[in-house]
Amino acid sequence: MWIYQGAKASPGLVMGPVRRLEHGGAGLERVVQAPGREQALLNAAVVLAKDELRQLEDAAEGTDKDIFLFQQLMLDDPSLNQEIAGYIAAGAGAAPAMERAARICAGRIEAAEDEYIRLRAVDVLDACRRVVDILDGRPRNPLRLDTPSILVSENIYPSDIVSIDRGMILGLASAGGSAQSHAAIIARTMGIPALVQVEGDFLDRGSVAGAVLDADNGRLILEPDEAVRKDAQRRIVGASILKKRLAVLAGEPCFTKDGTRVELLASCSGPEDVELAIEAGAEGVGLLRSEFVITQGRMPSEEEQYYFYLGCLQAAGGRPVTVRTFDIGADGPVPGFEEDAPNPALGMRGVRMSMLHPQLFHEQLCALLRASAHGSLRIALPMVSCPEDWRMAMEHVKKARRDLRRRGAVFNGDTEIGCMVEVPSAAVLTAEILAAGCQFVVVGTNDLIQYTYAADRLDGRFAAYFDGRCAAVHRLVDLVLAAAAPLAVPVSVCGLHAGSPNQAVRYVRQGVRCISTEAASLLAVKARLLEEDLTAPPAAD
Ligand code: PEP
Ligand code: MG
Repeated sequence: MWIYQGAKASPGLVMGPVRRLEHGGAGLERVVQAPGREQALLNAAVVLAKDELRQLEDAAEGTDKDIFLFQQLMLDDPSLNQEIAGYIAAGAGAAPAMERAARICAGRIEAAEDEYIRLRAVDVLDACRRVVDILDGRPRNPLRLDTPSILVSENIYPSDIVSIDRGMILGLASAGGSAQSHAAIIARTMGIPALVQVEGDFLDRGSVAGAVLDADNGRLILEPDEAVRKDAQRRIVGASILKKRLAVLAGEPCFTKDGTRVELLASCSGPEDVELAIEAGAEGVGLLRSEFVITQGRMPSEEEQYYFYLGCLQAAGGRPVTVRTFDIGADGPVPGFEEDAPNPALGMRGVRMSMLHPQLFHEQLCALLRASAHGSLRIALPMVSCPEDWRMAMEHVKKARRDLRRRGAVFNGDTEIGCMVEVPSAAVLTAEILAAGCQFVVVGTNDLIQYTYAADRLDGRFAAYFDGRCAAVHRLVDLVLAAAAPLAVPVSVCGLHAGSPNQAVRYVRQGVRCISTEAASLLAVKARLLEEDLTAPPAAD
């Protein structure tokens, strides 16, 4: 038994044989011809490669499409092509010239400051490898699997995953790679457990008859002993029984006993949990906490965010996704942003913080508006407290739309923009905020309770306000519903409170028809609502 440690790129636990995925080098045996002929061969191979990539792009969905489009564009990159032409002119064959130029180009990208750009180096290598394979007459889909297997490799490329039958890939483990790479994104969206940065000599062991890939615990175990094997089997069976039990209820639409339809959405933080939420029966994402795209305190670029939102839309499989713009501050501090506010909960946070950093806000809005061209995406602005906040924030939205038009970027100009109601003033002033153009309302009960009762949500001593002692919050929700009803503006209620079955029933009884909460609570809420008859008097608390 050999145990190797790696970093989780996509969750899950699988067991099966291991197959090594090879990405061969350039064929050096072929007789190199005159530079003009080598260049012509290369040009023909590039045309073929782009054609194959276009087909992969057509067959792919969501984010994956962009990956193959990016790879096509890379093959047209002038600096890459100049470099190749230089090697060919100096007497190199087309394939080695392409390989060498690709390595140098990828090396340059890897040295970039922006992590997102660094991660694109793998796409350059993937696209160039395709051209080299064409030049060498090597099949582009070398691995024909007849048994579902765990694939191991130096690096896993996006095209590896999408060009191998999904049913044949149990899991992925690579020596290189990163959890933010396109391959990892695809693995997550396809539900394939994956490890990256696996240390040790696992690749030297070649194809192995049996292995356990425990991505949840960052382990690849080759030739596991009986105990490990049994434990893995037990966990796999346990997970599948639970999934089946939940699945029965997950597939049912949520109607109360008297036939009132209640939409149940999930509150999520990224593509991985969107996917799990959909499996748990969520009808969409009612709140995507976008600040989870900020990793290790580093602000993501517009491009990076764009892919993140696309990933979320894809994981939601066409269902609606409401993305909340960054709510930085208070209990979600980011280095460099108001770290020393005297009273963080009452300091700069949400849309106020975004407006204090207009460039950051602009990039996020551009990324969101662009992503909304590819799915049902709405934008919610957090911590709006009055119509003035709303109007000021909307100036930034208008500016983002203008900028995208000037750039000729594809975006959805009709993307719905709404606000979170998380402070009592916003609940009281909902009618005015709606009159200023707000298109939907998401009530955030975690903060609304905190600010209504002056009860710090991080302080366990106030737990009672976040559960039973919350009548004032229900009254505020009444105000919101009364303001929204005449305009038919949709109102949803989110937060942990909404995930408590008893509270969810209370919200539904007062007229709320959409609840968004953590995926883990959704089925319990649904089970309770299915039993509730709204025409009967409420059960005593
Ligand atoms: C809320 O305030 O209820 C909410 C959903 O937002 P967060 O918990 O992220 O503050
Ligand atoms: Mg909040």
